[in-house]
Amino acid sequence: MNEHSDEIRDAIEGIEKFLKQEQELYGDLLFRDAEGQKQQQQPAAVKSKTSQPSPEEQDLFGNKTPSAIPVVRGMHPPSRPYPNDPWVSASGLDDLDRQICECVKCPLGSTRTNFVFGVGSPRADIVVIGEAPGAEEDAQGEPFVGRAGQLLNKILEAIHFERGEVYICNILKCRPPNNREPLPEEIELCEPYLWKQLEIIKPKMILCLGRTAGQALLKTNDSLAALRGKFFDYRGIKLMVTYHPAALLRNPNWKKPTWEDVQLFRKQYDELKSART
Ligand code: URA
Repeated sequence: MNEHSDEIRDAIEGIEKFLKQEQELYGDLLFRDAEGQKQQQQPAAVKSKTSQPSPEEQDLFGNKTPSAIPVVRGMHPPSRPYPNDPWVSASGLDDLDRQICECVKCPLGSTRTNFVFGVGSPRADIVVIGEAPGAEEDAQGEPFVGRAGQLLNKILEAIHFERGEVYICNILKCRPPNNREPLPEEIELCEPYLWKQLEIIKPKMILCLGRTAGQALLKTNDSLAALRGKFFDYRGIKLMVTYHPAALLRNPNWKKPTWEDVQLFRKQYDELKSART
């Protein structure tokens, strides 16, 4: 009897693990909530197409961006305006942090321990964007300091970036309870802070970690499998989506494709650098 119940428990755990991995890759499209309702979906993406960029193009900040690596076009986020808030004219990252760190626009403002603004060089060429703070990040007020953060540091090292040389932040600045996925309304309220961070830093490239960050920035429902391994044009900045380090801790089989993604990311960065020197 005990032997059978162990087998059943193992089988259920296996099924749960499989479904969790499918959800990481494909999102909630196949999931229903407790009432059997299909989960709310984000607006459909603008259909994208891949094209070779013309030899010299300018980004938002007037930089020339020649490249031989194809970039997917046509997935620009809608040009929603900034909210009418004083922080919109923040003079720099510290000023922005000071002005927004007591945010209570959504209920996460009253459950967080710390507002997790972001960390790294204000002049970084690379911005790494995760989903939302976890327990460790909430406790310390710094993104990616837990197990996933240690793996992220190793990934960055493997492509010759030091943690302090890039800028690391999240779509949400406050921890969702029990590490649940960010809700669309939380993303909508918090994302303008990220736009302002990007406007101040003016990075050359963005690395999105995981489906949630990629879908939020690109305003698409596409699966991680469809989004990863290529470049998107995000307001003139080259953006790549790859696996979230927390997902790699759960499924080491995804380390190889992640390695391929970040190698391509580094290659594109080296190209951009050499074109500008
Ligand atoms: N996962 C994230 O997406 N962000 C963090 O800061 C930590 C874990």
